[in-house]
Amino acid sequence: MTDTPTQLFIGGAWVDAADGATMAVDDPATGEVLCHVADAGSKDAKLAEEAAVQAQADWARTAPRVRSEILRRAYEIIIERTDELAHLMTSEMGKPLAEARGEVAYAAEFFRWFSEEAVRIDGGLATLPDGRNRMLLSRRPVGPCLLITPWNFPLAMGTRKIGPAVAAGCTMVLKPAPQTPLSSLALAAILKEAGLPDGVLNVVTTSRAGEVCEPLLRGGRIRKLSFTGSTAVGQLLLAQSAEAVVRTSMELGGNAPFIVFEDADLDKAVDGAMVAKMRNMGEACTAANRFFVHRSVAEEFGRRLAERMGALVVGPGTRDGVDVGPLIDRRGRAKVEELVADAVERGAQVLVGGRTPEGPGCFYPPTVLADVDAGSRLMDTEIFGPVAAILTFDDEDEVIRRANDTPWGLVGYVFTEGLDRALRVSERLEVGMVGLNTGLVSNPAAPFGGVKQSGLGREGGRVGIDEFLEYQYLAVPVR
Ligand code: NAP
Repeated sequence: MTDTPTQLFIGGAWVDAADGATMAVDDPATGEVLCHVADAGSKDAKLAEEAAVQAQADWARTAPRVRSEILRRAYEIIIERTDELAHLMTSEMGKPLAEARGEVAYAAEFFRWFSEEAVRIDGGLATLPDGRNRMLLSRRPVGPCLLITPWNFPLAMGTRKIGPAVAAGCTMVLKPAPQTPLSSLALAAILKEAGLPDGVLNVVTTSRAGEVCEPLLRGGRIRKLSFTGSTAVGQLLLAQSAEAVVRTSMELGGNAPFIVFEDADLDKAVDGAMVAKMRNMGEACTAANRFFVHRSVAEEFGRRLAERMGALVVGPGTRDGVDVGPLIDRRGRAKVEELVADAVERGAQVLVGGRTPEGPGCFYPPTVLADVDAGSRLMDTEIFGPVAAILTFDDEDEVIRRANDTPWGLVGYVFTEGLDRALRVSERLEVGMVGLNTGLVSNPAAPFGGVKQSGLGREGGRVGIDEFLEYQYLAVPVR
């Protein structure tokens, strides 16, 4: 903690906010203030934008191999410092250390993956149908980018954007969430150490998101917005991006269905549910939000899931043996409490959990609700907490219709031992990703993203770099 930067990172230098403002970073396990970091305003945002704009031309000309090796070095530094980064993340975000270590590895992998992609940006040469004209196709970096990240995966949401931007030759202004600025500042320090030139990455930590971001989006110098966060904020930023026709990638909210058919292997289904629900204390866009379980196995599934959930140890993420850390803040916990109260009022049975513990910190127990009414608010709200809501269904068509009956379409989980059914159901689900007999889909080598109001574009995989590249076509007549 002592070495973690707390200032803004602009043009390769650590600086205070122009007006000297700072903001507190809290430990969600105790409610105590961990430290203060610089709180940027619009003046700082303009300086960061200027640094990114100035650095763009040289950075675009930098050899792909050089960009690749910077990412590779940063990957190695992150891995060497896994423990340090995991402690930092746990202190500002709350997740248990084991999960934080897992996120460090996941985050680092985006740098390794995109270090490999940086040297594979291809183009093309073709003879056009008239036989005379040639087409030379090259791919250019889109230009200076604004990256906005949420608090739930403080390191990985940053590397998932920075990795492809660096690989493509784009410069950046990164605005992390105010709850978790320290992981992003630590990342900036690592990239500098790895040799990233000044101005390529700039980090503005702020409690004044609108004041900092809106002028950049409307100003015409930022050419790309890559946003991860809620659908409501994504919609606002899309509107702001329209004025200067800023290219956008949007990784937004989810409302994942988790479907257990009567022919599912219940061991796999319960294991999958534990991951899909409890990864990150349920504070994940991929978290299973609605468990649809076939009526014939619903009771057994509910009982086994409640047993597993009830055995989890809740406590500060830094303590040995803890499985479930605190939620991010009091507001996040109050939302979970309200959703559970609403479901119970509408007749849901609490199989385990459901009661907020006394004492400091934003803890909430792993909770399983059975017989949830389809009109409950948690059916169309991201719970973002450790609450599994179980509904029953009778046939395949019905469950597909209900699973798709939502404006979101990020991910769905399907548990069945029948290959035909697995493929049939996966193809009919309106989602960008499907976990088939697994509760985990995230992988840097796979294209992550959703359909409908869950977003636009993909992060990771072979296509992740495309979001940061434009085509340029050169027409060459041959006489
Ligand atoms: P959020 O409230 O939308 O905030 C996300 C980021 O946007 C934060 O940095 C936030 O800063 C910033 N922001 C808010 N208003 C802004 C504005 N007017 N201008 C510029 N920036 C603004 O979401 P969250 O609560 O942090 O994260 C949870 C949400 O993220 C969930 O909906 C989850 O599903 C989604 N998520 C999606 C993915 C995915 O890949 N699809 C991954 C992770 C999370 P402030 O907090 O200062 O407003």
